[in-house]
Amino acid sequence: MGRHDSLYWLEACQSYYASDAYNWPARPTAPGVKTTYRSIEGTFDILPGSASPVTRSEAWCHVEERIRAVMQRFAFAEIRTPVLEPLDLIARGVGELTDIVTKEMFSFERGSTNYVLRPEMTAPVMRAYLQHHLDQRPGEQRLFYMGPCFRAERPQKGRYRQFHQFGAEIIGSTDARADAEIIACTVEIYSALGLGSTLLRINTLGDAESRPRYIQALRAYFEPFSQELSATSQGRLKSNPLRILDTKLEHEAALVQSAPRLMDFVDPDSRAHYEAVKVLLAEVGVPFVEDPFLVRGLDYYSRTAFELESPEIGAQSALAGGGRYDLLSVSVGSRKPVPAVGFAAGMERLLLALEAADAPWPDTLPPTVFLIGLGESAEKAVFGLALRLRQAGLRATHGLRSRSMKAQMRTAHRVGAGYCVIVGDEELASGYAQVKEMTQGVQETVPFDVLPRYLLSHRT
Ligand code: AMP
Repeated sequence: MGRHDSLYWLEACQSYYASDAYNWPARPTAPGVKTTYRSIEGTFDILPGSASPVTRSEAWCHVEERIRAVMQRFAFAEIRTPVLEPLDLIARGVGELTDIVTKEMFSFERGSTNYVLRPEMTAPVMRAYLQHHLDQRPGEQRLFYMGPCFRAERPQKGRYRQFHQFGAEIIGSTDARADAEIIACTVEIYSALGLGSTLLRINTLGDAESRPRYIQALRAYFEPFSQELSATSQGRLKSNPLRILDTKLEHEAALVQSAPRLMDFVDPDSRAHYEAVKVLLAEVGVPFVEDPFLVRGLDYYSRTAFELESPEIGAQSALAGGGRYDLLSVSVGSRKPVPAVGFAAGMERLLLALEAADAPWPDTLPPTVFLIGLGESAEKAVFGLALRLRQAGLRATHGLRSRSMKAQMRTAHRVGAGYCVIVGDEELASGYAQVKEMTQGVQETVPFDVLPRYLLSHRT
């Protein structure tokens, strides 16, 4: 390549700009333009080494791994759907009058399409099931998912605008065993992570006719008290009286206690189904309490509804919720109803509950090997050695700035290295590295060739 070759100059410039020799000038900013940015309110970064598990990437990896293991034991296979969905799917699926659809969607229009950042995953999973004719596959579909969801809620602890859900669905069965299995799987995930003290509440919502009959009865019951209700509940009395049942106000909660009970409006088949679910749960030793006012906030539920709470995480105590949604498929366009049951759980709330319970966090990562190369040739050799150690299955790193032995040792301590591998000119010449065990400070001389085997046999 000649000196006037443009690629030569491009490469020369790139390496100059990338080197420490070049001092980047401060970027001029227009008046009024912010120079620093922060993550949007209600969203957060997940970083290595954060103090709280909610924002610590190692904690996320650990929890995700455990969840996957339980899902796999229950023979659920993973489904991944896009974060962007058609607005109409969510509006029809979740329900036009629900809080999610009326107030909490991040939606936008582009061209002739209305998009929404998915606020939940059950409607998208049902869309995918119908789109790809999964009903033609043998047996029920047992699917699980994990991923971000978005709701424009007022951010607070345990309630975010971008949060992460995991969940599972059994699609294609009306059997009470499917409901009981979904509930058992939900509970199992928390106990596998060491959270035994969860509270499971269950109820039945009856069939498609039960709910409108109940809503009518609730309206008739609350109407005479409408002056005593808060403005929010007065609004709900008109739009969706079921939501009044979730009230946190003491005087309203007292009214709720004497309100009509859903069970009195439930059809006989749904009652029998509910009894069967309860018997199955009792048989496998899953403790639950019946909550006659548990209705869930999404429209697509019928029959079984349940919620799992953690007494430890305060106001936002719902860890997970779910139930049967035999009506969803038809409301999102299927000609024939597809019976299904599932649960959705919040990852952040799980992490908060683990934090509150002071759960032990296993050190899942092996100790790091920190390589120190002293001098240009040793640095190159260390670069190659690090790669060989990684290929052997070790976790290895090295500093990318040429610094003194003392400074590099300090870094090794800071990253929690288990071992340091030190190579200088002398070691290069002899083909031996100095290996220092960092807790006891014991140092040994180990031939380069043997290093991977030596470190593998010594790692704890
Ligand atoms: P839902 O789809 O509303 O039944 O929610 C299922 C689970 O997702 C809840 O039990 C929470 O654990 C979690 N969740 C729902 N909304 C949020 C939010 N805004 N921030 C954090 N977690 C949430």
